[in-house]
Amino acid sequence: MEQTYIMIKPDGVARGLVGEIIKRFEQRGYQLAALELMNPTKQLLEEHYQDLKGKGFFAGLIEYMASGPVVGMVWVGKDVVKVGRKMLGETNPLASAAGTIRGDFCIEVGRNICHGSDSVESAQREIAMWFPRGVKVASRNTSLHALIYEN
Ligand code: GDP
Ligand code: MG
Repeated sequence: MEQTYIMIKPDGVARGLVGEIIKRFEQRGYQLAALELMNPTKQLLEEHYQDLKGKGFFAGLIEYMASGPVVGMVWVGKDVVKVGRKMLGETNPLASAAGTIRGDFCIEVGRNICHGSDSVESAQREIAMWFPRGVKVASRNTSLHALIYEN
């Protein structure tokens, strides 16, 4: 089953939105495989956002991301990378549909409360970076699985 890295950013944690965000993934039927409250180093954040290094907002992004604890999570399930991004909404919250996490809870791109991997490859890279000791997926609850998946 596919895995994705979802992270609640410092503003989302400080605003008390951890439970709300977890609730949405749980209710959709996805399975939580790892969760940790962490205070990432700037070095880890710069590595996480390495593709954005040349951008004018990069330094501000790292400051924002280092401003408080984040909640890193691994979620598992069918198409969870793409669907997770849909559940988050657009990068710019003002362009995000109501019903998405960003569309319901935030306004500015530089305070958009959550992160989600943008591809299966990014997810693998990010999960290895944020959970270097590895992720153990709990053994499948077959009766629950049958209520969410056809097979
Ligand atoms: P994401 O995958 O939707 O999170 O978007 P990106 O990977 O393109 O950018 C990573 C994060 O950088 C975004 O979630 C925003 O927090 C931030 N960011 C992206 N573009 C901008 C921008 O134009 N201005 C500011 N201030 N932050 C930005
Ligand atoms: Mg991104």
